[in-house]
Amino acid sequence: MSAPSSDDQPMFTRPGEATLTSRHVIPATESLPDTAKQIVEDETILDGNARLNLATFVSTWMDDDAKQVYAASFDKNMIDKDEYPQTAAIEDNCWHMLANLWNAPDADKSIGTSTIGSSEACMLGGLAFKRRWQQARRAAGKDASSPNLVMSSAVQVCWEKFCNYFDVEPRYVPISAEHKTLDGHDLAKYVDENTIGVVAIMGVTYTGMYEPVAEIAAALDEIHKSTGLDIPIHVDGASGAMIAPFLQPDLVWDFRLDRVHSISTSGHKYGLVYPGLGWVVWRDAQWLPEDLVFKVSYLGGEMPTFALNFSRPGAQVVLQYYLFLRLGFEGYRAVQQASQDVAKFLSAGIAKLDAFELWNDGSDIPVFAWRLKDGHTKNWTLYHLQDRLRMKGWLIPAYPMPADLEQITVQRIVVRNGLSMDLAAELLQAIETEVAYLDALESPMPTEKPQSAFHH
Ligand SMILES: *Cc1c(COP(=O)(O)O)cnc(C)c1O
Repeated sequence: MSAPSSDDQPMFTRPGEATLTSRHVIPATESLPDTAKQIVEDETILDGNARLNLATFVSTWMDDDAKQVYAASFDKNMIDKDEYPQTAAIEDNCWHMLANLWNAPDADKSIGTSTIGSSEACMLGGLAFKRRWQQARRAAGKDASSPNLVMSSAVQVCWEKFCNYFDVEPRYVPISAEHKTLDGHDLAKYVDENTIGVVAIMGVTYTGMYEPVAEIAAALDEIHKSTGLDIPIHVDGASGAMIAPFLQPDLVWDFRLDRVHSISTSGHKYGLVYPGLGWVVWRDAQWLPEDLVFKVSYLGGEMPTFALNFSRPGAQVVLQYYLFLRLGFEGYRAVQQASQDVAKFLSAGIAKLDAFELWNDGSDIPVFAWRLKDGHTKNWTLYHLQDRLRMKGWLIPAYPMPADLEQITVQRIVVRNGLSMDLAAELLQAIETEVAYLDALESPMPTEKPQSAFHH
């Protein structure tokens, strides 16, 4: 008898499928491609269905043409500007399109880059602030050893990382029931001569609410007048920078405000591309200190790059370009509007349930959160509802709000392209059913220790 390695052997009876092996040691020998593929597919089934993951902001659906574009470009390395000059040119086109979308006064004077996501884009924005501040301090013969960055206590974890990794003191302005976002109040208490910049978030991760960038800028204008401190803003528009231009064109949050030096976004959130892609654009190249920029060879000459990574996929950049061309402004508007319609449908349905009170309704980005009404029940919490919905495949996280409001638990839905009205109606039905089940309990559900902080 020959060794059991032939293709004829039935699936699931072959070595590797019908045997238990360590997953922490590379197997000693090869296996059939089908076998390896089957094992990978089987193990990842347990991840659940990405389309029903309403916890994430990141794209889980692209059309079939996009898949072909993707397949044709997944071998491109973004850093190989010389070898793939057209991919480099496409990257350049994309951030110019964004500079224009965000109302840069002269996009030819702007500078930008793709990144692996908003986290890297935010770090680059923060680094530009820090270096510019250090240079100004040193030029004035002043101490440049203790920079700080001012932001809301509800910032995304990437800003905590930035401060930690690059030795900047984070100064958090706490959010509260009256000030649900950073809105410029009391800002003078937080900034001083060591403040390298202020972060404004378009689409706070916890709730989806916009921070009023124009009010923050106005507060900084006042501070400038009274103290001489001229403090710039970076807009973390991870989600909102790809929503506001289409759904709230009159909202002034972008390069129309002089104080906004840089804006970042996640191409893989409402930019509608698969992960991982981010963008950062400076309104004017003067705000990106030259000594942060490295040169790589490009067509016999040199091309500037500013990034934390060296090699990274070029395919996502190509996909972004495909989508800009495929959808155009009007197509993006239609897609984002459809998501917002679904978000408002769901938030209205949830608001109707006795158990809940909305935190917001999804009219900024198509994201909203709600809490249990005070005194509604002693028998269950939003964590129990989260678990009940998970049994039906829906991933809808409950989590505590950030510092100072951490006693408040909210539950949040992120509506993305691909959550159809039809699926949303199914979801609302599931929420109603599970709330009715929980409300009918005669005694309290068991509870675990408080959950760890939410860091999406
Ligand atoms: C998602 C998010 C980030 C991080 O973005 P990634 O693209 O996941 O790295 C930063 N800031 C905000 C406001 C976000 O929503």
